[in-house]
Amino acid sequence: MSSSAEWEVVIGLEVHVQLRTRAKVFASSSWGFGQEPNEQVDPVVLGLPGTLPVVNREAVEKSILFGLVVGAEIPARCAWDRKNYFYPDNPKNYQLTQKDFPVVVGGSVEIELPGASRNVMGEHKRIRLHHAHLEEDVGKLSHAGSGSLVDYNRAGVPLLEIVTEPDLRSAAEAEAFLRSLVAMLTQAGVADCDMEKGQLRCDCNVSIRRPGAPLGTRTETKNLNSISSVRDTVVYETARQIRELEAGRAITQETRGWNAELSRGYVLRDKEDAHDYRYFPDPDIPTLELSRATVERLAKQVPENLYDRQRRYMDKLGLPFTAASVLVADRALAEWFEAAVAAHPANPQGIANLVANDLLRDLSAAAGAATGFGEAAPAPISLASCPIKPAQLAGLVKLTDDGVISKQQAKEVFAEMFRSGQDAAAIVDAKGLRQNSDTGELEKIVQEVIADPAVAKSIAEYRAGNEKAINALKGPIMKRTQGKANPGLIDQLLRKALG
Ligand code: ADP
Ligand code: MG
Repeated sequence: MSSSAEWEVVIGLEVHVQLRTRAKVFASSSWGFGQEPNEQVDPVVLGLPGTLPVVNREAVEKSILFGLVVGAEIPARCAWDRKNYFYPDNPKNYQLTQKDFPVVVGGSVEIELPGASRNVMGEHKRIRLHHAHLEEDVGKLSHAGSGSLVDYNRAGVPLLEIVTEPDLRSAAEAEAFLRSLVAMLTQAGVADCDMEKGQLRCDCNVSIRRPGAPLGTRTETKNLNSISSVRDTVVYETARQIRELEAGRAITQETRGWNAELSRGYVLRDKEDAHDYRYFPDPDIPTLELSRATVERLAKQVPENLYDRQRRYMDKLGLPFTAASVLVADRALAEWFEAAVAAHPANPQGIANLVANDLLRDLSAAAGAATGFGEAAPAPISLASCPIKPAQLAGLVKLTDDGVISKQQAKEVFAEMFRSGQDAAAIVDAKGLRQNSDTGELEKIVQEVIADPAVAKSIAEYRAGNEKAINALKGPIMKRTQGKANPGLIDQLLRKALG
């Protein structure tokens, strides 16, 4: 291991994402998860003689939208090629893909590395994209006993393949990249990226080199279906390649698989077995002009970038890193938060606190109860069915800021708002929760409490300069007012009374 520290790992990813469209990419069948096998097929998907593919506008527009999200170039035209191979996952014996004229060229994805502190973001880096091309997904084979079963429901589902430059330098960067990419795809409505449903699959290219040296020989590990498998593959492949090179052996450029159960990679095929796909331009689909009017229309749908939003929350609204990053991770949540801030602009931090902690906690508990998810699996939250509206939450924070209720009482009111959907003010009235801010009345109680010999020691300590000793006097005051005394006012009155 002596020289391992001097190796640098280089990673490039090819990410396949199923686009969020109603129909398939060249056919009118719908697609979705959980159907019976071969329910979502039609003559085009099956490649029957006499059929012709027709490009799905929605799939092209989602691809362009992705390009605009990552600041890529949208070329004047794109075109499809046939990738020929004989395998029953595709009844046409070729896959329609874009080899030379992809729909998206260049662009970059901002990533955030771990290491943020309360008020400082983690390190940020930009990962360049080479291009993204629009192709068709293929069917699924299940090998059972002596035979194999084939399901063409997935065949023809629009697949955007996003190819990075070899810019990633660690497993943590690869993980951060995928998290950022998923956030951008989902926030723009381009894709749902549900990995449990196989909507995002990744090929992971890894090589190592001495820093500053030319790129080393890479291996490609295919078909990773979770962020953790990509991370584990990078760690595994880096260690393996270091071992090989340090033992004086060369790395073979090979295609590998990953066994997630055993946490081990294995060889699928080496370069000698490389397919010759005999690509040629597909004669059935004409070159597609990507009109500037369409590009301009789609540009208006690009949401605020995740990290621009995070910087704005921290710099302009004064949110700590943790709250800001929780809010921006979900576009609907961020927009909900912003609607609440618009209704009470004086205290974004107070609003963020309630949204990022109390509201999220109660929403996921409600979602968990509804879907039967246990503690282990995070249940999807739904703001659509949130019983509290943004302006109502703003109303609660305002009541606290105005000193009508204490922060402690606000928690109680929040719980009731979540249960009943009522306004904060109505709940405060119904429960008689209004905080006591009557100076005259509180002054009297303060005098009674400080006259009690039981607190004489604390008073002496406070007067001797122990600031914290004053807190021992607040408990008895709260007790006498059934917890309703305004804490800020008590503090002020006590200090005045003690001189
Ligand atoms: P191919 O044409 O064989 O698919 P590409 O040059 O298009 O190869 O690269 C495919 C992926 O592999 C890209 O994501 C790229 O960044 C990555 N890649 C290329 N060379 C290396 C390397 N030496 N180490 C790691 N990743 C690499
Ligand atoms: Mg490739």
